[in-house]
Amino acid sequence: MSLFFPVEMAPHDPILGLNETYNADLRAEKVNLGVGVYYDEAGKVPLLRAVQAAEEARVAEHAPRSYLPIEGLAPYDLAVQKLLFGTESSIVESGRLITAQSLGGTGALKLGADFLFRLTGKKLVAISDPSWENHRALFEAAGYEVVTYPYYDAATNGLNLNGMLEGIEALPEGSVVLLHACCHNPTGVDLGLADWARVIDVIQRKNHVPFLDIAYQGFGENLQDDALAVRLFAETGMPFLVASSFSKSFSLYGERVGALTLVTSTPDERDRVLSQLKRVIRTNYSNPPTHGAKVVAAVLNNPELYAMWEDELAEMRERIRGMRQALAEKLKEAGVTQDVDYIQRQRGMFSYSGLNKDQVKRLADEFAIYAVSSGRICVAALNSANIDHVAKAIAAVMK
Ligand code: PMP
Repeated sequence: MSLFFPVEMAPHDPILGLNETYNADLRAEKVNLGVGVYYDEAGKVPLLRAVQAAEEARVAEHAPRSYLPIEGLAPYDLAVQKLLFGTESSIVESGRLITAQSLGGTGALKLGADFLFRLTGKKLVAISDPSWENHRALFEAAGYEVVTYPYYDAATNGLNLNGMLEGIEALPEGSVVLLHACCHNPTGVDLGLADWARVIDVIQRKNHVPFLDIAYQGFGENLQDDALAVRLFAETGMPFLVASSFSKSFSLYGERVGALTLVTSTPDERDRVLSQLKRVIRTNYSNPPTHGAKVVAAVLNNPELYAMWEDELAEMRERIRGMRQALAEKLKEAGVTQDVDYIQRQRGMFSYSGLNKDQVKRLADEFAIYAVSSGRICVAALNSANIDHVAKAIAAVMK
């Protein structure tokens, strides 16, 4: 019998499966709203000008490719901290921060999950209902029991703040609580300042461990406002973790550029935690890759390239905003009487459209428009060439 005979087929990945069906569809008007990627007005993944400039300079250097340190490129790690906490933040100089370059935001979450599980004995994590699908899978694979706290209010297409507070309160003391810092995936529904203050209060009282996931910094309001939650947690002085990613904000998806940042209590604690985190990394992939981190560090640490990147990020954000507004307007024009203004209130690349499974299926069958069965649509995949078709189709299935 073959070694692999007992291996069963893994369950189908809903989003990858969607891409396969989309690719096989021969209808010219097809649109894929199931993706988690920003497309420009021409329907392409952009190569940012700031990235291009940094890459050209890097190629011209003809630099050798030695190993990076286990925790990654130092100028990259420091630039990540400044972006998260603000250039003026005293925490960056406090000797309490650790940042390790990671394989995207996913790699950061996995490092943090493994670290907490193995070295602090955490066994329970709460994620939002709903959340990015990989949160549950990733923490389960790391050994955790994964539970959810209420988040989305289907009645208002907004935040269920009271449910969220009660859910977090009801968790056993010292639970890990995973929070989307901005541009919640999949709903696009975020917390405001006052909401965060209340969530932080419960988390502190219950001695929970906040684990912030920030994969879309710059896609909500701007780089600074989108880091509000990170900065509010920093003000409390409590220990927490942040998984961050440049996949979207630098359009560097395949380069796998992310970071895990841990806020510890003292410089001594920092040294102990760092030594153990390095072991987690060393026994996993030894050290991270060079290219993406070099490019991002070159941009973040050069004022001209930084300004260029900030403009390009604003362009992406504004284009998505424009598409949100256009979609809401065109739905109304097409005769939708339900409230669709929430599309404009939601932030980031996604909108929870409120469409149910059957409506999503009709969109694919009748209109060649593909969305996740939960009703999540990627607003960043809309453009002026496909938005009329999409709006009319959504209006048709909503009636
Ligand atoms: N967290 C959230 C909420 C995400 O949406 C994503 C990307 N889809 C990630 C983390 C992971 O990002 P990366 O591609 O950098 O691993």
